[in-house]
Amino acid sequence: MAQDTCPCGTGERYAACCGPFHKGTAEPPTAERLMRSRFSAFARREVAYLWRTLDADHPDRQRPEEEVRRELLAACNRYRYVRLHLLAATERPPGEQAEVTFRAEVFESGKDRSFTERSQFRHDGAGWRYLSGEPRS
Ligand SMILES: [Zn+2]
Repeated sequence: MAQDTCPCGTGERYAACCGPFHKGTAEPPTAERLMRSRFSAFARREVAYLWRTLDADHPDRQRPEEEVRRELLAACNRYRYVRLHLLAATERPPGEQAEVTFRAEVFESGKDRSFTERSQFRHDGAGWRYLSGEPRS
């Protein structure tokens, strides 16, 4: 994989893929792209982006920002976010909830911590946000 390939799995260069989302110069056009950009944000320790793309009703948003950002950074440092597999995406117009199911290949000190999750996303008027996720086996 080339040095600047985006970790989100599109095969695009980072600067032409999730980079603008992380920088805040663009918003992901779909829930799937938002989901991908959150995976690449974990891979690249873009903690501010991870916080910013949580839906206002996400449980972490009810907690102090500094504490949540510290935990997110700890997760970024503890795990290696290797690859993202998109299993299903149900796109909806803004105003409705979209659903994305994915498998994340994640490793912790060489141990496989990969997981499958079905996530809900909601558009808040500015962009798609991560509302909730439930583990799938
Ligand atoms: Zn990307």
